Amino acid sequence: MADISMAALTKVYPGGVRALDGIDLTIADGEFFALLGPSGCGKTTLLRTLAGLETASSGSVGIGGRDVTALPPGRRDVAMVFQDYALFPHMSVSDNIAYPLRIQKVPGATRREKAAQTAAELGLTDYLDRRPGQLSGGQQQRVALARAMACHPQVFLFDEPLSNLDARMRLEARTFLKRLQRELGVTTVFVTHDQAEALALADRIAVMESGRIRQLGTPAEVFRYPANTFVASFIGSTPMNLLDGQVAGGRIDVAGALLPVPEGLEEGLAEGEKLVYGIRPEYLGLAEGPAEGALRGAVRVVENLGSAQLVTLEGESGFVQAVVDEDRRLTPGEIGHAVPRRDRALLYRDG
Ligand code: ADP
Ligand code: MG
Repeated sequence: MADISMAALTKVYPGGVRALDGIDLTIADGEFFALLGPSGCGKTTLLRTLAGLETASSGSVGIGGRDVTALPPGRRDVAMVFQDYALFPHMSVSDNIAYPLRIQKVPGATRREKAAQTAAELGLTDYLDRRPGQLSGGQQQRVALARAMACHPQVFLFDEPLSNLDARMRLEARTFLKRLQRELGVTTVFVTHDQAEALALADRIAVMESGRIRQLGTPAEVFRYPANTFVASFIGSTPMNLLDGQVAGGRIDVAGALLPVPEGLEEGLAEGEKLVYGIRPEYLGLAEGPAEGALRGAVRVVENLGSAQLVTLEGESGFVQAVVDEDRRLTPGEIGHAVPRRDRALLYRDG
């Protein structure tokens, strides 16, 4: 078991791309930690730098109290699962799983025994003699996991390991991975661009943008209190409405609609100050008719979410989205009055 620490970790690729820009981060022993961010923000680079597959330009990496910054991958005691699994196509499942043990010069019989044992834990016993090409995506993913587990590393590094699975398999694999990590208690860094995956799996999440951490917190914290408009727009199954507003007489004027100041954020507002009013579509309800403190707009799009509907209104403040009850009947063009939940609205000054 091991904690991970990064101090002022920076990676500049030849050519000048600053993929990591001074990362300071400590991950606790046994933690399931998610690195979340859009494509190109530096997630893979961070993971590869932890694994020793990339050399840091400056800064340091510690694993289990050891400074590993200058150590090669084989001496860091970490196992990485790649996005494309990187299985050896010409080797059997058994040999794939046992590969890291072969590198460690573990004798053949012990290797096969350990591979069979790990395969059994992951439900792969029936596939030991097959080649990766003869397995489904989900099974290949498990082989990649088994290969990572076989040498009992102190740290698991996962680079978008579920992204090649179809939607249903993804959910199953997600639950499986969470359960496995809980059972093994191995410190895990999980990279994803999928906010739902990060929220569902992680003990804590670092939201990254352009090689920097924009927010660090528990899933509940980053969902409820995104620290800036970047995180606010990135977290959530439907993007948060971020509306330009101005403080006016103890309210927030959003294109003429006078919205109540969000609960708890009454302090320190200056009359006339410009800010961004944030409200998630889930916390915007449609009133039956004209209402005070409502955003008014014409219904443009109604999307069926299954148990609810996502409605896009177009009004003075631009487009606003609200999640409404599945039973509510809405016709395109009709005027909707969307009322924000005061205890869930947020204000930003970084818009
Ligand atoms: P992510 O995994 O979040 O999509 P990456 O870590 O792969 O992001 O990439 C971060 C940035 O570094 C991107 O701008 C990418 O183009 C650049 N980059 C990644 N690998 C290399 C490389 N080997 N050489 C040069 N630039 C790279
Ligand atoms: Mg990547």
